[in-house]
Amino acid sequence: MALGKDYATQECSIARALEIVGERWTLLVVRDALYGVRRYNDFLVHLGIPRAVLAARLQALTAEGILDKRRYQQSPPRDEYVPTDRGIALWPTLRSLGLWGREHFGEEKLRVFRHADCGTELGPYGECPACGTVVPVPDVEMVPGPALDPDPADPISRALLRPKRLLQPIEAEPAA
Ligand SMILES: [Zn+2]
Repeated sequence: MALGKDYATQECSIARALEIVGERWTLLVVRDALYGVRRYNDFLVHLGIPRAVLAARLQALTAEGILDKRRYQQSPPRDEYVPTDRGIALWPTLRSLGLWGREHFGEEKLRVFRHADCGTELGPYGECPACGTVVPVPDVEMVPGPALDPDPADPISRALLRPKRLLQPIEAEPAA
């Protein structure tokens, strides 16, 4: 019997949310979308995910209103996936998961998130300690942390070595 996707006995908002984003790969697809990945092939090379799984996750995230599918080229038809407000609202969850992983499982600091306006590293609740405000997602700048591989193999990871704001589309360098 296949494992069901719902938690029918649970009266719980966490269970309800996990029915939407609790499948393997789903939150990593959302993470990449918030980092600025938009195109199928860019998700594919950055995640190293099986094609069928990526297609299924993108379809489900679009159906749930977390990503918005937009055609950017007619011939041949090509779509890109842009986070909606509902998708952007997952950022604090993803950041908390990352902080939890680092704190409890000894991960090194791979990325640093800071307030683009003033350059201060964000606190654990997404706040800027210098400005005293919660920083809106588009104003969060990500920069490589000390443990990040300085010479990654795929073009998306290479593009992410440059400081960039969340949501800003990634400009991958053309293949050499
Ligand atoms: Zn600030």
